Amino acid sequence: MDGQRAVITGGKAFTFGHLHPLDLLHIAWTSKGLRKIVMSRSSATIWRRSLSTVEKLPDCLVGMNEPQYARLMFDEICHFCDAGNAKHVIFLARLRCCKACGLEKFESLSGLPEDVARPVFSITPYTRIDWARGYMGGVKYYYIKEMHRLQAEYCRIRHPTLKSAWVSMKEQDFRAMEKFNANFWSPKEGSVGS
Ligand SMILES: [Zn+2]
Repeated sequence: MDGQRAVITGGKAFTFGHLHPLDLLHIAWTSKGLRKIVMSRSSATIWRRSLSTVEKLPDCLVGMNEPQYARLMFDEICHFCDAGNAKHVIFLARLRCCKACGLEKFESLSGLPEDVARPVFSITPYTRIDWARGYMGGVKYYYIKEMHRLQAEYCRIRHPTLKSAWVSMKEQDFRAMEKFNANFWSPKEGSVGS
């Protein structure tokens, strides 16, 4: 019985793994049964194979699993409102955003806000997308809600050594994401990151 299941699963792995990640996501959303198979941990190999079929696609981001990464890269659903026209990926926040939510959630700041610690400000996700005008400019628009969430997390850590370890871990991840963002080339749109 187990052997039979292994053969069937193996057959599915072979078939699904050659699909584009977006097709794989659509299959997962078709029915509960398929979702269970495609989204299970044991299907990680299927996802890795599927992602590898996309030319020049960078490796899955740290902190995300393969289905989450596939959604971020290929599914144009807004992280905030579920609208289906979220063209922009904000890599520093690991999310997709539509224009309406971009205007609402991201703000330019003239300097360090009074209630935010400098280390927190330096790891706050931002985008250079000018949502109102629809182009990439030089101004940074900060993800304000995330800045306050990070500030609260920062304040909860009392011990100075732990606090500085937290900052250094977050900074390392943030700088790596900034580098990823700067070098990203979208296989679909031929554009760089946000
Ligand atoms: Zn939205």
